[in-house]
Amino acid sequence: MTSSLYIHIPFCSAKCSYCSFNSYAGLEGLQSRYVECLCAEMENVASSGGVESLKTVFLGGGTPSVLPGDLSGKIITTYRNCFSAMQDVEISMEINPGTVDMAKLDFLHVAGVNRISFGVQSFIDKELRSIGRIHTAEEAVVAVSMAGNAGYENVSLDLMYGLPGQTTASWHQSLETAISLGVKHLSLYQLTVEEGTPLQQMMYGGTIQLPGEDELAAMDNITRKLTDSAGLRQYEISNYAKTGYQCRHNITYWENNEYLGVGAGAVSCVRRSRKRNIADPVEYCDRIEAGKSVVIEEENLDIEASFRETVIMALRLNSGFSLPGLTERYGINALDYYGATLENLIRDGFVEQHAGMIALTDRGRGFANLVMSELV
Ligand code: SF4
Repeated sequence: MTSSLYIHIPFCSAKCSYCSFNSYAGLEGLQSRYVECLCAEMENVASSGGVESLKTVFLGGGTPSVLPGDLSGKIITTYRNCFSAMQDVEISMEINPGTVDMAKLDFLHVAGVNRISFGVQSFIDKELRSIGRIHTAEEAVVAVSMAGNAGYENVSLDLMYGLPGQTTASWHQSLETAISLGVKHLSLYQLTVEEGTPLQQMMYGGTIQLPGEDELAAMDNITRKLTDSAGLRQYEISNYAKTGYQCRHNITYWENNEYLGVGAGAVSCVRRSRKRNIADPVEYCDRIEAGKSVVIEEENLDIEASFRETVIMALRLNSGFSLPGLTERYGINALDYYGATLENLIRDGFVEQHAGMIALTDRGRGFANLVMSELV
């Protein structure tokens, strides 16, 4: 049964130069129509049943916090009317500094949002400008402090390393600043240069330079050192949390459990059927208003494909996957299924088997893509 709901808000104040997400700047005029359609989709999905009490709800984007309070409120009220939720439901919202003030944070908190994920990316203004972020480092510090004053206890920051012009010293400074703000969770991503983005053009044009392999390795060491001493334990390749503050919504994905996604471009995976909604927000609204389906892609995974996906996703988690748990879920024993491939990964120290769990080692995490390509 499904117990996680993702709600996609595709609007942003400006498009960051590295962004390949389904997000759009300059569509403010569509916001209210989009929210009407989003709520209609939630009602449709709820009426078809199959959703148990929600454990997690995630408003992501895009930048959900660009919506005015009344529209965010409408989304939250609709989800509440459509679905039941557990008492301790985690309701996360992605927020960009520069798009919230105290009144909006208060409003969202009262409406039920209990986890904030701030897209900070860096505490160095020059680096923020280099990737087209709309906010300054100071605005990020103020936003995190306002969130504390508004009563949010569960706050996460996203930071990026490998940014244009970033040095080991500036990464140290960004990470140290994030930790000094006392947040409970950090998502630390290496910048990837996506096809067709302005960042890629800048890189090809030679107008920006990215840190090299040695610098990236040194940044990884800084990350390990600072997060360890702050008690922020790595629980996934890019995610660190104080005990009890892991993102429950994202764990749904990493454990390859069922989830529903609503909104433009959102993906749902229920009973091994993966469906993707149309990405364009205007076409999404047109379809909803015309009473047509917004699903444009559907893939039905067989047991074996789903099993392999579960293995790959779970290896992102430091805890890995449970051998007996996987056998019970799929009727497939991972040791038998992968045979020599998995044995070799264990022998070479990329993967370890301990107390019925299979997980990447520290060494394996450094070569995660390679290891996963062996098992996919
Ligand atoms: S704020 Fe996030 S979603 Fe919006 S353009 Fe920047 S990276 Fe993309």
